[in-house]
Amino acid sequence: TVKLTDIRKSFGGQEVLRGIDLAARDGDVIAIIGASGSGKSTLLRCIPLLEIPDQGEVSVGDAQIRIRDAGHRFSRAERQTVRRLRGQLGFVFQSFNLWPHMTALQNVMEVPLHVQGRPRAECREEAEAMLAKVGLADKFDAWPAHLSGGQQQRVAIARALAMRPRALLFDEPTSALDPELVGEVLRVIRALAEEGRTMLIVTHEMTFAREVSNHAIYLQDGRVEEQGPPEQVFLDPQSERCRRFVGMQR
Ligand code: ATP
Ligand code: MG
Repeated sequence: TVKLTDIRKSFGGQEVLRGIDLAARDGDVIAIIGASGSGKSTLLRCIPLLEIPDQGEVSVGDAQIRIRDAGHRFSRAERQTVRRLRGQLGFVFQSFNLWPHMTALQNVMEVPLHVQGRPRAECREEAEAMLAKVGLADKFDAWPAHLSGGQQQRVAIARALAMRPRALLFDEPTSALDPELVGEVLRVIRALAEEGRTMLIVTHEMTFAREVSNHAIYLQDGRVEEQGPPEQVFLDPQSERCRRFVGMQR
């Protein structure tokens, strides 16, 4: 389970998140949509506490952090909780951020081997299986620079999976890709949804989002303006502003 309660965040006096509640149960796929600047990335980054909310509660599995005011200083115990919380999340960003001096396989093995400290043979076997899962069984030894954008993004997904996360967070995973490469990445994410993975996906791919999610959230000005089943949010929104937004994306 991933749960956010009353998350607030300002940047230089501008309130970017104005009290967001969100809950993903195991197996949920939540699509997060909204105009540029509505706070989608900030919200997603608050979950692993890459961005520290000014206020609110974040819980992932059994790790829970509560922040009461801006400039919160984490105690030792809280820092440990943050590490435990992060360890249960895999993220995939718009830019692939692969380590350029490592092969595809090394990229996928790195965290399980050197951060999680799992046995090398097990890490290797699992990394190979994850690369095969994303359709890259023939690219174990390829350097990132020799892979297409779509292939690099699939390595990034395999890398996130190899951490054995409880939930996966995607921030516009296809928006840096050439149009002809978008489909191969969306197919992989769709397959993960069918496996019952818990995912939160920020995307501008409206048809994909409607088909893959079981819950959709429309953010506007740092608030949840509309949420519900994807059929409602994408096809028959209650809110006029959401209706206009999804209408414009078609
Ligand atoms: P996009 O669709 O363009 O990715 P978004 O919905 O992801 O937009 P955010 O990136 O969350 O939007 O940004 C929300 C607001 O917060 C914007 O006005 C942005 O300029 C501001 N913002 C985000 N990060 C920072 C930061 N580190 N410092 C200052 N302002 C920030
Ligand atoms: Mg963003």
